[in-house]
Amino acid sequence: MLTVNAYAAPSASEALVPTTIERRDVGAHDVLIEIKYAGICHSDIHTVRGDWGPQSYPLAPGHEIAGIVTEVGPAVTRHKVGDRVGVGCMVNSCRECENCRKGEEQYCLKGMTGTYGAVDRDGTITQGGYSTHVVVTEDFVVRIPEGIELDAAAPLLCAGITTYSPLRHWGAGPGKKVAVVGLGGLGHMAVKLAHAMGAEVTVLSQSLKKMEDGLRLGADSYFATSDPATFEELARSFDLIINTVSAPIDISSYLQLLTLDGALVNVGAPAEPLPVNVFSLITGRRSFAGSAIGGIRETQEMLDFCAEHGLGAEIEVIPADKINDAYERVLASDVRYRFVIDSSTLG
Ligand code: NAP
Ligand code: ZN
Ligand code: ZN
Repeated sequence: MLTVNAYAAPSASEALVPTTIERRDVGAHDVLIEIKYAGICHSDIHTVRGDWGPQSYPLAPGHEIAGIVTEVGPAVTRHKVGDRVGVGCMVNSCRECENCRKGEEQYCLKGMTGTYGAVDRDGTITQGGYSTHVVVTEDFVVRIPEGIELDAAAPLLCAGITTYSPLRHWGAGPGKKVAVVGLGGLGHMAVKLAHAMGAEVTVLSQSLKKMEDGLRLGADSYFATSDPATFEELARSFDLIINTVSAPIDISSYLQLLTLDGALVNVGAPAEPLPVNVFSLITGRRSFAGSAIGGIRETQEMLDFCAEHGLGAEIEVIPADKINDAYERVLASDVRYRFVIDSSTLG
């Protein structure tokens, strides 16, 4: 067992504090990773604060992990000491069910093993990337291509794949009009990725405050959803809308922005239900769908795509003692566009 420094929440209502956690011994198929950077995803906040249900505490979140391999088990073939690697939202799955066999481990019929807050195969509760080291089975570790700095790569492991996967699945590309709702961690990656795929991209943000950034990131146009005229002007315009908002929004009014057969894909995961007026669906044969992260193969594909197109996340690197402040800023939509923890500051 390896005892490592970490930041963890003692309960749903307390700030995160410095602590230590245990990592298992490196097994035959395991890789020991020295974590260099870990992104702060809004899901970390939802989870530790109990928005999605009760958790086991103390809980160290973090599922946007970038680091270097420092040890490998004897049976490991995919990674070697010194490799630049990443770990995202899952660290295992059953590997046998229909969905796992298709490479869609995130939809494992027996439930994927989340990087934190999940029951691992040895019965312990997984602990995430706000720590200095992690031990992960080699099949759930991906390669970070040379062209992407490790700090800018970390957020790709969740924000990147969560937006890449639905953009690919719903065919974002030349001739397609894609709207991204919410310009935060996921949203800014959705803009970069959809633009790189060749789609025409529109940002739908609460205000025009971040318009200059949005256009620089690759958006062709930018609208404020606080202005009712936006919904009139853009009616029936988009083939695909990716909703990244972490809070409930009026889905029906966004559905009206879809063209015939368009789809609104929710990746945002507020705890509350999102009611839909069915007329906003049936009046345009529209779909309202959801999507969770992406499989391991697709995560590697996304990283390679980002390297090929020179993409990484726009980040603000912070020391560990600023994690709680960063949480408040994320909750206030004051993030440009992902906080990344420098793991060397974990003590
Ligand atoms: P984030 O950085 O906080 O971005 C969310 C953005 O939504 C904000 O920047 C803001 O953009 C907008 N927003 C926030 N509150 C709003 C409100 N009340 N009304 C309208 N817009 C609002 O969060 P994130 O890390 O990108 O995560 C976004 C959501 O996706 C979270 O719920 C997270 O749990 C979920 N998630 C899901 C998956 C998945 O697999 N499906 C994976 C990762 C994360 P503007 O300022 O531009 O309006
Ligand atoms: Zn995430
Ligand atoms: Zn499975």
